[in-house]
Order: sequence, then C-alpha cells, then structure tokens
Amino acid sequence: MRKQLAYLVQLQDIDNQLLDLKQERGNLPETVEKLRAEIEESTQLLDVKRDEQLNAGKERRRIENEVELAKVSLKKYQDQLFKVTTNREYDAITTEIEAAKVVINGGESRIIELLSKEEELSDMIIKLEAHLEQIKSDFEIHDAELLDKINQTSELEAKLLEDRSALIEQLARPIFGHYERIHLAKEDGMGVAQVYLGACGGCFAAIPPQKLMEISAMEDFILCETCGRIMVDPENFK
Ligand SMILES: [Zn+2]
Repeated sequence: MRKQLAYLVQLQDIDNQLLDLKQERGNLPETVEKLRAEIEESTQLLDVKRDEQLNAGKERRRIENEVELAKVSLKKYQDQLFKVTTNREYDAITTEIEAAKVVINGGESRIIELLSKEEELSDMIIKLEAHLEQIKSDFEIHDAELLDKINQTSELEAKLLEDRSALIEQLARPIFGHYERIHLAKEDGMGVAQVYLGACGGCFAAIPPQKLMEISAMEDFILCETCGRIMVDPENFK
C-alpha cells in the first residue's frame, strides 16, 4: 500500500504538469477549430452566392436576346401593317404585334429584376470575400501560435505521458480506476489530496483524528469522506 500511494503521488504530480501544459495552450485549440469551421461555412455560402449570380446573369442575357428578337419582329410587323390589303391580314399582324409587345414588356421588367438581384449579389459577394479574407488571416495567426505552443511543449508532454503509462502499469487496477474517476471529474484534476492542517487539501473538509492517523500509517487506502479523493500525508513524501 505504501508503494501504491507513492505511485499515486507521482501520478498526481505528472497530471498536474499535464494540466499546466493544457492551460498554457488555453482556448487556442477551440479558437482554431472554430475559425476552421467558419472558413468552411463562409466558403460554401460564397460558392452558393456566386452560382446564383452566374445564373441570374445567364437568365438576363437569354431574356435580353429574346427582347431584342421581339423588337426586330415588332418593327417588321409594324412596317407590314402599312402594306396590308385585307382585314384578315390586318388582324393577323395586329395579333403578332401584341404578342411581341408582351414578350418585350415582360422581358424588360424581368431584366430590371435580375439586374437588381445581380447587384445585390455582387455587394454580398464582396462583403463575404472580405469576411473570408479576415477569418483566413485570423486562422493563420492562431494556427501558427498553436503550432508554436504545441512544438514548444510536445516533447515534455510526450515524456509525461510515457511516465504516466509506466506508473499506471505499477498501480493496482481498482486503485488507478478510483484515482482516474476523481481526477477526470474534478476541475482541478486532483484525485489525490494531501492532508492540510487536519483537513482534506482538496475540499477542506475536516478529517477525524483517527483517520488522520490511518492516513499517516499508510497501511490502508483512505478516501476523503466528503470528496472521495485519496488522502495522503505530505510528511510521508518529503
Ligand atoms: Zn475532500
């Protein structure tokens, strides 16, 4: 039990160092991930808007052609109108003229709609492009910073993780299981707490004198009754 408790104290020390490394990186990993997702989202939206702009332009040019052709026909029918000799001919040409006018009027109002839509899309695209440039540069700055921090600390982290694995192998399964559960559940990552002025160093609950003696004796595995942390006496690990 003495040895197991010593391993636990070492494990806690390693985990404290790993937690420090994580805190040093801060929320950089989340920031980088968030920016990465935002770039993807903005790029997709930009593609959609560019497609819409392209289609609006295509439709407008098609209608412009139709209107041009209808205008040529209209001119032709209007010229023919002066040369008609029968009422039937007159009626037929008048019908053609009306039809051409419908195409021209309908086409022209659609062209106005499309032009305004194209203008709106063009403004939106300019804004989206600027926004995308901005988040791309933010991303590059934060990503470089994160990479730098990871590079600075990765060697130490790898060594700590290696030492951690070696220690875990030395620990009895249920003891490690209990430690790991508390370690992961507590914000401070402390699965082991040192006795401090007769209280638990993790939650500051007072420890009965009998328990204090048992903790010092290190013959048993003693848990804080309040927080469940494994109790050790720092005097034993000096
Ligand atoms: Zn406690």
